[in-house]
Amino acid sequence: QGPGAMKFQRQHMDSNGNPQPNSNYCDQMMKKRKMTEGACKPVNTFVHEPLKDVEAICIQPNIRCKNGQNNCHQSRSSMRVTDCRLTNGSRYPNCKYRTSPTKRQITVACVGNPYVPVHLDA
Ligand code: 5GP
Repeated sequence: QGPGAMKFQRQHMDSNGNPQPNSNYCDQMMKKRKMTEGACKPVNTFVHEPLKDVEAICIQPNIRCKNGQNNCHQSRSSMRVTDCRLTNGSRYPNCKYRTSPTKRQITVACVGNPYVPVHLDA
């Protein structure tokens, strides 16, 4: 397993987490998954679906990523996710997040052989 795939799983996968988390979820998870070291990561999405289902997004048709590359893929079905967004008054190292559970299609960038997700684009 390459470093990109491992980073994706650390930052975005929470398959066994409750898809209806409490309001502390993002504060705790952003810290636990090491996205509050050096700076507070402003926006991050956690996906509450099996890893195999997220990896399978890579076989959907290629679409353009926000960075202009064409190795992005959108899930066919909506997925259970939790959006974490830094609150306005939050100041490092005291990273405070708004926790927003929702269901939507997600877009990931995939690379490598095996061809697996390494970035969550949207
Ligand atoms: P904003 O609303 O702050 O202008 O932009 C947030 C953007 O971040 C949205 O376009 C959303 O699709 C995207 N986004 C959501 N979750 C993630 C994530 O985990 N990583 C990255 N890189 N972008 C994300």
